[in-house]
Amino acid sequence: MEMLDIVSKPSKFLKHFKVDVEDELEGYEDWWFEEGLKISENIDRLGTPHLRMFDRFGNRIDEILYPKEYWDMLYRGYKLGVVADPIESGNLLKFFKIGYITSFFDPGLYCPYTVSLSTAIPIYKYAPEGIREKYLERMLGRDEEVWQGATWMTEAKGGSDLGNTVETLAEFDGKFWILNGEKYFASNVGAQLAVVAARFKGEGKGVRSLGLFLLPRYRENGELNYFVRRIKDKIGTRSVPTGEVELKNSQAYLLGDKNNGIYIILEVLNISRVANAVGSVALAQRAIYEAYIFAKERFAFGRKVLEHPLMKRQFYDRISLIMKAFALAWESAIMLNGVFLEKPPYSNFYHAFRLLAHLAKFWTAEISVQTSKWSMEVNAGMGVLGEYGVERLLREAMILPIWEGTPHRQVLDAVEVIVKKDAHKHLYEHLKDYDPEGEILKIGEEIKSLEEEKRETLADIYISQLAERVSNILIKKYLS
Ligand SMILES: Cc1cc2nc3c(=O)[nH]c(=O)nc-3n(C[C@H](O)[C@H](O)[C@H](O)COP(=O)(O)OP(=O)(O)OC[C@H]3O[C@@H](n4cnc5c(N)ncnc54)[C@H](O)[C@@H]3O)c2cc1C
Repeated sequence: MEMLDIVSKPSKFLKHFKVDVEDELEGYEDWWFEEGLKISENIDRLGTPHLRMFDRFGNRIDEILYPKEYWDMLYRGYKLGVVADPIESGNLLKFFKIGYITSFFDPGLYCPYTVSLSTAIPIYKYAPEGIREKYLERMLGRDEEVWQGATWMTEAKGGSDLGNTVETLAEFDGKFWILNGEKYFASNVGAQLAVVAARFKGEGKGVRSLGLFLLPRYRENGELNYFVRRIKDKIGTRSVPTGEVELKNSQAYLLGDKNNGIYIILEVLNISRVANAVGSVALAQRAIYEAYIFAKERFAFGRKVLEHPLMKRQFYDRISLIMKAFALAWESAIMLNGVFLEKPPYSNFYHAFRLLAHLAKFWTAEISVQTSKWSMEVNAGMGVLGEYGVERLLREAMILPIWEGTPHRQVLDAVEVIVKKDAHKHLYEHLKDYDPEGEILKIGEEIKSLEEEKRETLADIYISQLAERVSNILIKKYLS
């Protein structure tokens, strides 16, 4: 089956969609097949990295210990310019191509790149003069000296409803914003810089009193500026350490206008949601590939498993599904490329992008989970054994719908941007050449016409329908 050939490598899949894959990215992919995958599998099986909290003299150091190979694996992306290139060129697509290739092998490793870019962009756009130059330069390195970023919003009482659950307080001391509080899910912990959501002290609850702050790992005098209480033991994404962080009179810089805090926080989340969508499709592609290499060799009832009519049809359906998912994810990447430098107040195209990003994050993560489950079923008994790596795909996939905003939040936010910003109309404007029946408009208007309680009750049903239609429309754009 010719269609099966395109799932064998991430570069083949990208090229099928006429995405340029430069030689250096093909070289990166080869390295993963030859060496990287083994390193990544080992790190996954070793589990949670080790936190060394104190040195032998009793000083707090909060060092995160990994095998050396981990750093070799991680720095490869930075050497390719995964963060530097988008900032220097003003074009994000290389970041997404590297992300697609990385996630085929290790979706957790795409997280450090994503949160680093999601730190670099707000520094580039919003950091005060002097601070911008000082820190951005460190993040644009293409060697082991490069500084990494992180994005910490969630606290112990919840990540969905930041307006109510963020208890970290920020107070200006005349030079720094001083932060006190705790972050409960802090991925890429140990990073030299983080962007952190905190509430302006003395202001009430709600999203309007939130700001986004730049937090260096070390204080001006060289002491630790944030503390790692522990590293979490997770079912997947073990190639990125996720910790609990304590902020104790931590020195930080406010990013952007105080009144726009929540919008700037959402800009950061938008980047990672699109990255999540791109990574989800790559993982689903890998899951199909792992199903293929088993089914083409395994015998049952006198033939190779792959040759049974039921199995052939399922392979065909799965590949068709991930192609549509890719079109959705890639279009959201292309639209983000067009809006990531916008600041409030935003254009209509930005609202169209936001709607598409919610659809993509929601829909592709679900496809990734379902496809990994299916791949395990095809591998059957072999699929559940830790030693062959197929069960890992399902563990990795299960994180994708949850971090960067759960499916409930994605569908409710998609409904909100339709109702408040007419985002469906703007998305239709963007895609109308491929939507002659005006399906995007029809579904959007139907959602708008529902009374509020009903809109929420049925949000997942309507948004699933919209995501599916939009992906059908987009596949025409990409493959016709
Ligand atoms: C591996 C991993 C790494 C992470 N890394 C980071 C990180 O680096 N930085 C960071 O800030 N966060 C991080 N997170 C946290 C993640 O963003 C949150 O888990 C997520 O936003 C959901 O928050 P919560 O887990 O507190 O669930 P809650 O917000 O408590 O939600 C609980 C449930 O209620 C549902 N719900 C909420 N509101 C509604 C509603 N209106 N209607 C219906 N249902 C609703 C949710 O969908 C969910 O099912 C990470 C999470 C994981 C799993």
